[in-house]
Amino acid sequence: TYVVTENCINCKMQDCVEVCPVDCFYEGKNFLVINPDECIDCGVCEPECPVEAILPDTEPDVEKWVEINTKYSLEW
Ligand code: SF4
Repeated sequence: TYVVTENCINCKMQDCVEVCPVDCFYEGKNFLVINPDECIDCGVCEPECPVEAILPDTEPDVEKWVEINTKYSLEW
């Protein structure tokens, strides 16, 4: 799965949401999150993010963000 990380906070762009083929972005408190159960790992959103906030969960040091994306996307 891909995850949204720190740079997304207070970013108002929605480019990633528009390109996601499965609509798995959700609104967190002040940033977007990706629902890990719905993400099909296509990678389309990653280059669309203007602040490079979207990373694959295989990157180092994203465990915290995996938890945050899971938590906030499942509240809806
Ligand atoms: Fe959506 Fe693909 Fe990005 Fe997953 S990797 S959030 S399916 S655009």
